[in-house]
Amino acid sequence: MQEADLNLNSSKNQLVAHFEAANISLYLKREDLIDPFISGNKFRKLKYNLEEALNGKFKTLLTFGGAYSNHIAATAAAGERFGFKTIGVIRGEELGEDLDKTLQLNATLKYAISCGMQLEFVSREAYRNKANLKFIEDLKSKYGEFYLIPEGGTNKLAIRGCEEILQKEDKEFDFICCCVGTGGTISGIINSSTPEQKVLGFPALKGNWLASEIKEYSNKENWKLITAYHFGGYAKTDSTLISFINNFRKEYHIPLDPVYTGKMLYGIFDMIQSSTFPQNSRILAVHTGGLQGIEGMNKMLSKKNLPLLDV
Ligand SMILES: *Cc1c(COP(=O)(O)O)cnc(C)c1O
Repeated sequence: MQEADLNLNSSKNQLVAHFEAANISLYLKREDLIDPFISGNKFRKLKYNLEEALNGKFKTLLTFGGAYSNHIAATAAAGERFGFKTIGVIRGEELGEDLDKTLQLNATLKYAISCGMQLEFVSREAYRNKANLKFIEDLKSKYGEFYLIPEGGTNKLAIRGCEEILQKEDKEFDFICCCVGTGGTISGIINSSTPEQKVLGFPALKGNWLASEIKEYSNKENWKLITAYHFGGYAKTDSTLISFINNFRKEYHIPLDPVYTGKMLYGIFDMIQSSTFPQNSRILAVHTGGLQGIEGMNKMLSKKNLPLLDV
């Protein structure tokens, strides 16, 4: 493994639309294009953790996630690329009961296994208590020593990686928009924003603990959470969101994911249409990737007889 391998490409800003009436420009930072397999913010979050694991001579990475987790897919891919064994502790004991069937239905886990990740399925209760010392010790006696990366990949080193999302040339933007899951990505963005910029976070889930998470990692005040666009909660969708994502793809030739970036862009368009942004605003929205989740979402949508996402 060579030092240079961890240096990510910086992503390009792409003009998406100019809204004439209010003279508002919307750009997307295409973090989804950083790497075909370890896309978006998950690579940013892993970068310094991988460096730390390499420095500590760890051979194995262990992390946690749900069955469709972008972070699980990214960790599996990074492990394969940089020479680590990987173990994914997955929420949902029942998924392990008939693994072949699970993998037929779940492209994320299938991909993780194809990268060599070992999956450990645990009950929801065990998963909830995963920070528990005994749980970790049991995993160590089963798998040996490992470098532990928390659920969603958020820790101090992840924030440091996300501080590299904004570049010098991004100082000209008035608003930086990003999706919020655990709050790690936005914390890094806030840390590297200028005091004149306003960072808007679009949580992909319900809940009001996020602001305090962000305050733990960042001590600036030029940010705000826009909580009106979670569409019912984490990974919840409806036909309005699906058709927005499909139309967006047709019109701008940019794919969005249904869990994070689709909701944020829906929100940004809605806010522009309702004149929430001041005139002449220059907006930069961060495309954090997550496109690997589309296939799994389509399987769920088709079960519910809802319209599917275009691929
Ligand atoms: C994980 C993820 C996020 C959320 O990042 P956090 O650092 O957990 O807030 C946003 N967008 C995409 C596509 C993701 O996969």
